[in-house]
Amino acid sequence: MLHPMTLFRCVFLGATFAVALSQSGCSTTPAAAVPATPATGGIVSQHGRLQVKGNRIVGDHGRPVSLAGVSFGWSQWEAARFYNAGTVNWLKQDWHASIIRAALGLHAEPGSYVQKPAANRARITAVVDAAIAADLYVLIDWHDHHAEDRTDLAVAFFADMAKRYGHLPNVIYEIYNEPLVISWPDKIKPYAEKVIAAIRAHDPDNLIIVGTPRWSQEVDAAAADPIKDPNVAYTLHFYAGTHKAALRARAEKALALGAALMVTEWGTCNADGKGPVDEASVREWMDFMRRHELSHCNWGVYDKRETASIIQPRAPAKGGWKDTDLTPSGRFAREIVRDWKQD
Ligand code: MG
Repeated sequence: MLHPMTLFRCVFLGATFAVALSQSGCSTTPAAAVPATPATGGIVSQHGRLQVKGNRIVGDHGRPVSLAGVSFGWSQWEAARFYNAGTVNWLKQDWHASIIRAALGLHAEPGSYVQKPAANRARITAVVDAAIAADLYVLIDWHDHHAEDRTDLAVAFFADMAKRYGHLPNVIYEIYNEPLVISWPDKIKPYAEKVIAAIRAHDPDNLIIVGTPRWSQEVDAAAADPIKDPNVAYTLHFYAGTHKAALRARAEKALALGAALMVTEWGTCNADGKGPVDEASVREWMDFMRRHELSHCNWGVYDKRETASIIQPRAPAKGGWKDTDLTPSGRFAREIVRDWKQD
């Protein structure tokens, strides 16, 4: 989701930070400990590694897989305290989530991955390791609006992640959350091709999801000029209060062109995370995603005082949330995720 303050600052500072980091050699730490042993008997054991087949994402069995889950908020802000195994296990047990999303925050403000790589990487790996142990799918999301200005940083990070996790069917790489209004062929696609090459050097086959222009709405632009890799799908984001039939028509155009899509982030409210919960629009979107067998993650696990947050401030950091610990949006999203038919 767009963070207006960081966007403003990042436009001016992003490139400078990327250059400073590449010159200082401060990127990611090398792969270290082996993650937890994968669990069996859950959703990943059932479907295996996700693969693009035509305009669908299918399991090892060749049938489409439609997952429902939740995205953590930006790793450096109001979500940081929730990046732990307790929250992951609660989302599985109480929300019946089959997929979760760890959102590595990249903005040029104190506390992001740009300034504090080790702390943010540790939050991501805590969630990914817990998801593997719980037999869930997990998106590793480069949560950025200016990724093309720091390609080297993304290349190093995803090479590290692919070395650590590439042998496991749980992991999906989401290499660009939401590009702004920039060119697919001139900016986003060249960035994606570099990051994909870095991943494929270590992991030949896990699913990769690529963001699309205009906050991951112009999926038809990517579909018209696709990336040459057999296991790539494209990101579609919607906020139900803002985005309606016109965006669904754009998504259907992309599907008709043969692209596979994943809704790695959606909100119940307006695109700025505020405004009322638009229940009628959410239900139209859910019908649409059921019809097209799409997977989706609600935004999000954090406790800022805005509509899109699922958690009230001061709720426990490790799950165990009562109804009163959830916001109205959180209670509604929980109902949707719990009711989703997961295959
Ligand atoms: Mg692999």
